[in-house]
Amino acid sequence: MDSPRYIFVMGGVMSGIGKGTTTASLGKLLQSKGFKVTANKIDPYVNVDAGTMNPIEHGEVFVTKDGAETDQDMGNYERFLEEEPTTDNYITTGRVYKTVINKERNLEYDGKCVEVVPDIPNEAIRRIKKAASKTDADFVLTEVGGTIGEYQNVLFLEAARRMKMENPNLVLFILVSYLPIPETIGEMKTKPTQNAAKKLRSVGIQPDLILGRSKLPLDELRKKKISTFCNVDEEDIISAPDVDSVYKIPVNFAKEELGNKVLDKFDLKPKENHMKKWESLVEVIKKDKPTVSIGMVGKYFKTGDFTLTDSYISVIEAVKHASWAHEKEPSISWLSAEDIKQGSLENLNQYDGIIVPGGFGNRGIEGKIKAIQFCRENNIPWLGLCLGMQLGVVEFARNVCGLKDAHSSEFDKDASHPVIDVMESQEEKLKENRYGGTMRLGAYECKLKEGTVSASAYGERIVKERHRHRYELNNDYRDKLKEEGMKMAGVNPQRNLVEIIELPDHPFFVATQFHPEFKSRPLDPHPLFKKFIEASA
Ligand code: GLN
Repeated sequence: MDSPRYIFVMGGVMSGIGKGTTTASLGKLLQSKGFKVTANKIDPYVNVDAGTMNPIEHGEVFVTKDGAETDQDMGNYERFLEEEPTTDNYITTGRVYKTVINKERNLEYDGKCVEVVPDIPNEAIRRIKKAASKTDADFVLTEVGGTIGEYQNVLFLEAARRMKMENPNLVLFILVSYLPIPETIGEMKTKPTQNAAKKLRSVGIQPDLILGRSKLPLDELRKKKISTFCNVDEEDIISAPDVDSVYKIPVNFAKEELGNKVLDKFDLKPKENHMKKWESLVEVIKKDKPTVSIGMVGKYFKTGDFTLTDSYISVIEAVKHASWAHEKEPSISWLSAEDIKQGSLENLNQYDGIIVPGGFGNRGIEGKIKAIQFCRENNIPWLGLCLGMQLGVVEFARNVCGLKDAHSSEFDKDASHPVIDVMESQEEKLKENRYGGTMRLGAYECKLKEGTVSASAYGERIVKERHRHRYELNNDYRDKLKEEGMKMAGVNPQRNLVEIIELPDHPFFVATQFHPEFKSRPLDPHPLFKKFIEASA
């Protein structure tokens, strides 16, 4: 296309109504019509990236291939669009201000006064356009985080307004709004959405389309009302009722002709139409299937299921993708690592497979180690991810190699057998309190050992997987672990770091230093998760 088209997705009424999955689903539709799509996330936080945010508050940290620690919505973009987003797709208030201040210090503003307006929106616009030019996309979708009417995202709305003002035919605004159905009234209310549209107009933005999120579909009456009060054609009010699987959203939107409506607004015609694969996926999701039950031994459970689900969203999605590939229905149970005591271990027997995902900090560590031991000794399929792998090594060192006080130096600085130790390159950073964006991040090579479960799962010799950690398997203990039967199934060839461990003579005992979950997609499940589910089922 001559010039990319820009679509801004903004949220009204409240947060948590699925702007991310909406953006990703619209992207999928435009892709299915033959266009190249990229998606940006604007996170209004002052944090430069999500790496320093508390996962309980903010959800999972999603790592891109080029090593950016981003918001979990970037994971939705990757899963839906089947493209690997990069650091250029992630914009935070912190990133914008940091660049502006650095430029000012370097005299790049030629000694002029640097002002919040227009210099901050200008930098946001530069970043949005950069993502477009880097990916050569026809459509650049930008999700503005936060809710209309709050202070935090105003400068990003100003950026969006300016882009429309400069190129009215190239920019489109979508308001995703919530319509409550108060139980006492029993009727869907449009007023909060009317107010959201009004607030948006007060910053100079008139939505072109409104997506009405609600428990139920919007009826004609509601659409009429919203149309009258929000100045949007009735046919441009799209119904977006709750769904039990986010992967159904693109198919529902297709029924509402959302893709064609967006193309119409830009005077474009679909080049093709290919939703077949996605539709078949939805058919599998809908089907009655035998269950595969997976236990996830993690923490954060005490703050409620919602938080937990968000903190491990990519792992959960990866389990779903792999289960569907085997025509199974995953049932995931949250097992609190802190509650795993000697006496309760037998409960683990009821699961087909157990996952110990990544994490930081001391809480729940011994419970996780006990759970891993139980899986090893009782032939329960086990998958360890990052911290999970590290604790798998600790468990094996303690209970098989007889190194009684083996530990990771993350949790016991004075352990006489630090089988997991801080990476040399990380030590300096920690001493200088340089925490932000300094872990071993992003994609690195892993060479697989022939004859291992991992090699047969991938069917390749060299793979690239994404990382986020400071500690690693201590090479001084590699021979000892090997002698007792642990296989170093994957190693990073450049730095000789162990990336995958396995135990033979077990239905499935595989753990990775990297995070395979970030690369799993519903239409292309991750090979290790697929093998794990196969063994579990
Ligand atoms: N805390 C461990 C480390 O920093 C594991 C990190 C993780 O699981 N992502 O190495």
